[in-house]
Amino acid sequence: MSVLDQIRYKYDDPKEFTSTIEIVDKEKLSLKESHLKTLLSSSIQISKELFPTLAESVDNVFQRLKIENKFTFFITANHMETQAYCSSMPQSDSAEIVLTSKIVELLTANELEYVLGHEIAHFYFQHSLYPNPNEAKNRIQQLNALDLSRAAEISSDRVGFIAAGHLDHSLRAILKIASGLGEKHIQFDYEKYLDQLKQIESMNTRSGEILNTHPSFLNRVQALTWFSESKEYQKIFTDKNQGKHSLSTIDDKINESIKTITGKELEVSNKEILDRAVMWGALHICLLDKVFSKQEQAKFTEKFGDKAKMSIISLLKISNPALVSGRIKEYFAEANSLPIRDQHKIVEEIKSFANHINGNQEQINSEIQNLEKLLRLK
Ligand SMILES: [Zn+2]
Repeated sequence: MSVLDQIRYKYDDPKEFTSTIEIVDKEKLSLKESHLKTLLSSSIQISKELFPTLAESVDNVFQRLKIENKFTFFITANHMETQAYCSSMPQSDSAEIVLTSKIVELLTANELEYVLGHEIAHFYFQHSLYPNPNEAKNRIQQLNALDLSRAAEISSDRVGFIAAGHLDHSLRAILKIASGLGEKHIQFDYEKYLDQLKQIESMNTRSGEILNTHPSFLNRVQALTWFSESKEYQKIFTDKNQGKHSLSTIDDKINESIKTITGKELEVSNKEILDRAVMWGALHICLLDKVFSKQEQAKFTEKFGDKAKMSIISLLKISNPALVSGRIKEYFAEANSLPIRDQHKIVEEIKSFANHINGNQEQINSEIQNLEKLLRLK
């Protein structure tokens, strides 16, 4: 395991959403070649002969990251956009990184090393395999995919920081990219910049940020600063060993801070879906013997409240078993869009509920297994 894996942001975990990796077919490989051909025709490849300082930055980055250089770097003439991107095909062993002329002009060599490291990380962590928010089947799937995409940026920023060698180079690059301005206009006072985050914290209005694939630059400045104070960073990259908090604690703080800007819609929706699946799963267990007994009703009230029990009882009066099992299928299909950790939670909660129910334990266990099959757990 490389140190890059050790510093990966813990919410940047695709296993929460995908279990299979796309297999590359011939069509995609030929697409890769045609993409490379387009780049070679329209952009200029970075070499020490043509762009010596840029080539030196590339070398510095690979020395600091201690990984192999399987990349081709290009410059594309674009004075409007401060951009860099990494393009690679799934499972490909190489990638192309393209920088616009504007980003190169704006940043110093050191700052550019942060950008190079950030893009290299997208390939290293295979972020291009993540679920595409634009292909989501429903809003909850889309919001979870966007959340994962933002998490990927936090990991990549850390690698950018290691590639640049200094926190300051990385933060300077971020502030320049965020403002689009060069040094002559900026005093690099990050605390002043982060005051904006405090202003946002005091506001309760919704914003469109939840639909962004990238976290706000405010979160990114804060996340990198906190990362530099972690025990892990201090131990691996400095000889000081003075970290205040573990990386895991810092990752939780970052996750909370991102929510200040995106709002809580994702968290609230995920919880509603989880609660619904637990309740209907529990009801399913109660109804295995086709009666909702007094003992089961009491346990149901204890767990889900009296109001939920009453509405279930009135529903059972007017509906047939097919309707109940239809609902269960519907709610478990919905729960398929949740992160795997939430799906495990659903099963755990149903199991613990079932422990208090009198009934044929063997039948109960096998039904719980059937419910697991409706999720992505089996
Ligand atoms: Zn990125």
